Amino acid sequence: MKAHIVVLPGDGIGPEVASSGVAVLRQVAQRFGHAFAFDEHAIGGDAIDRFGDPLPPATREALLACDAVLLGAVGGPKWSDPSASVRPEQGLLAMRKLLGVFANVRPLKLHPRTAALSPLKPERTKDVDLVFVRELTGGIYFGAKTRDADGATDECRYSVAEVERVVRHAFDLARSRKRKLTSVDKANVLETSRLWRSVATRVAADYPDVELEHQLVDSMAMHLLTRPADYDVIVTENMFGDILTDEASVLAGSLGLSPSASVGGPGAGIYEPIHGSAPDIAGQSLANPLGTILSVAMLLRHSLGLQAEAEAVEAAVGQVLTHGNLTRDLGGTATTHAVTRAVIDALQTET
Ligand code: ATP
Ligand code: MG
Repeated sequence: MKAHIVVLPGDGIGPEVASSGVAVLRQVAQRFGHAFAFDEHAIGGDAIDRFGDPLPPATREALLACDAVLLGAVGGPKWSDPSASVRPEQGLLAMRKLLGVFANVRPLKLHPRTAALSPLKPERTKDVDLVFVRELTGGIYFGAKTRDADGATDECRYSVAEVERVVRHAFDLARSRKRKLTSVDKANVLETSRLWRSVATRVAADYPDVELEHQLVDSMAMHLLTRPADYDVIVTENMFGDILTDEASVLAGSLGLSPSASVGGPGAGIYEPIHGSAPDIAGQSLANPLGTILSVAMLLRHSLGLQAEAEAVEAAVGQVLTHGNLTRDLGGTATTHAVTRAVIDALQTET
């Protein structure tokens, strides 16, 4: 098949891991006989430096015309002055809005070798294979904000339609997995959470084959550490998802391992590792590329519908995790380039 992929390297280690992702996609194209075209554009701090705009017009135009987006990372200390009029993260928000993505999907599947680096005991992390679906466009982050001499407010608002589309997305995903969905809210206190719970309960009638359970966010924060293997798909609103996914990423052993997808809109999906721009290790070939490479697998599966190709990439990463020399964050001594090379070699020799 032909596919047009926009690559946004961004800042810090973003360019290093994005180029690993592209190298793996090139190998997939060669092995499976596809024609992938790559179109590299500026975003974030890099785009501010070169164009004075965290999401320049040329990037916007390319985003609207592509099949999928591979993103490295955005931001860093160079642009972090809170009083600056333009900030790198504005590029991310503008891109999400432009593409209409509303569901941030983060799988968490633990490999035995790296789970050993997790702060949890191995018997707790064994068999963890879950996916978060975080709402990305609404809630308290986007509500009206006020500030006066006495205090401040942040409004939290959700429309029925906003809740319904992300909950349906999660039900569809649950249907393709273990048919178990956990909806997380704070319905004992918050009105937006009562709305969330009632919409989830109504939508559940359309998915009689999926088991729905409701959890309060505070107990969910605890269960993630005490019995993470009991969960399959977890859907929640924007802020709860932000906090719970960061908590969950610790279980994986390294930030460098986890992929993500932002999907659901009429436009292309955005695929990126969950880690940030890691300025402390940028430019030294120390970055772990596996989170980006696993994001490439999600891109192949979800935006291009290439299931066998996605599984081949995941199997190649599995082989490297089992037998390979890993990057420093995982206790190894390999460079970004060497780990990428090992994944490509595994892709070549896989049967
Ligand atoms: P952001 O605000 O952009 O999310 P952050 O402050 O959360 O950034 P990261 O940039 O994700 O932080 O980095 C946190 C720590 O994890 C750093 O010490 C960084 O070096 C390390 N780290 C992040 N990503 C990787 C990676 N791919 N490989 C190795 N180490 C990483
Ligand atoms: Mg962060």
